[in-house]
Amino acid sequence: MKNPFEKTTRMINEYAKPALEFLRVLDDEDMKLQALRVESLVERLEDLTEAASNPEKRVALFEFGLTPQLFYVFDCLPLCMETFPMRFTATQKQVVHEFLDAAESSGLPSDVCSTDRFLVGAALSGEFPKNAFFVTCSGPCDGTRIAYPIMQKALEVPTLFLELPSTYERESARWYGQQIRKELIPFLEEVTGKKFDGDRFREIIEESNRAYELMLDVYDTYTTTPMPVPATLRGFPWEMFLAAAGHPRATKSIQTFHAEVMRRLKEGIPNPIEEKHRVIWGHVPPTFDPLFFDWMEKELKVSMVMHMLSGSAILRPIDTTSVETMFEGYAWQGLDMTMSLMRFDSRKILEYTMKLYHQYRCDSVIMTQHVGCNSICGAGGIMRRYFQREGIPALFLEMDYNDDRIVSSDTLKNQIEEFFSTI
Ligand code: SF4
Repeated sequence: MKNPFEKTTRMINEYAKPALEFLRVLDDEDMKLQALRVESLVERLEDLTEAASNPEKRVALFEFGLTPQLFYVFDCLPLCMETFPMRFTATQKQVVHEFLDAAESSGLPSDVCSTDRFLVGAALSGEFPKNAFFVTCSGPCDGTRIAYPIMQKALEVPTLFLELPSTYERESARWYGQQIRKELIPFLEEVTGKKFDGDRFREIIEESNRAYELMLDVYDTYTTTPMPVPATLRGFPWEMFLAAAGHPRATKSIQTFHAEVMRRLKEGIPNPIEEKHRVIWGHVPPTFDPLFFDWMEKELKVSMVMHMLSGSAILRPIDTTSVETMFEGYAWQGLDMTMSLMRFDSRKILEYTMKLYHQYRCDSVIMTQHVGCNSICGAGGIMRRYFQREGIPALFLEMDYNDDRIVSSDTLKNQIEEFFSTI
């Protein structure tokens, strides 16, 4: 076994830090925002790598279906597992291949989602620390249900399995919130040896609410043409929220981003793109090519407004009236996040996509058919028929969003180019 977070440490030192130095000296306003993003990433990952070698600390490895706030209440270092492969897919592809191979060599079928194969491979290769614990849910997909029991066995660390509701009503959030209260709180008390502190929970929720409000404000500005920031930066507030909601540093980064967006709206947007089309990207983007959406904007004049990893279903901040409302709101935020939405039936995913489509005045949809994701591939037929009936131009792209050996960036670009030349 290697040192925990060995590959992560190498990625920080060999890629992220040099990139940050480079971005900092560039005299370009977009690059300054990129620097803010990389700086936040480095800080978060360094916190994690330091915690991994500190037996006094606990690293919370949690799945989509939860957000970080509650882990900060117990002074844990949170890592949303499904975002972890993305730290490598664009920067260190050899690590992605190595972890995928490790998972497959151990017997995990190659048709399991690459996110889960990556995580299992990382666990088997000793990337996660022994002072960690897992909190996972019954959703959104088969992949996660397969991966976490394997990782639990590999690491032999405490693991909690939560049950996700498959409906979206407020009632479901209340039920899930009660479960978090009854099961996750005692679990965290046991693994950390700390008692739950309701006042601290409120403080952290209020901190995350400040960030959430700013994020909603920023996302409202994406209805404008041209948009205030280029496509690669658009998901920054959500990325921060997902990684560190409730941490003052996350609020500060979102605040800086928010201030810059508002400044641009008042004083003018640098390098505005000439926009011919606006597209909602349903499901996951090709994370292996960080400049993919820049290419779409520059070459095709197509703005990708939002994809599943850059925004939430946009609900509202958590109601802090009482502990009950805080748990309910916290639960709903977890249910609302990113791929957690995939636990819905296909109609609900369509509703969510169409809400964004209208909200951001789009004229087309690109829908990923991520191999290994039964949920989105299974919904393909229903979606195709819906878009045809409604007369909405829609392109369905088969790919693996973590692995460009399945379908390359160039092949995807050719398909997109052809699609936009016909609408
Ligand atoms: S892409 Fe699909 S299969 Fe993969 S983690 Fe997300 S919901 Fe699960």
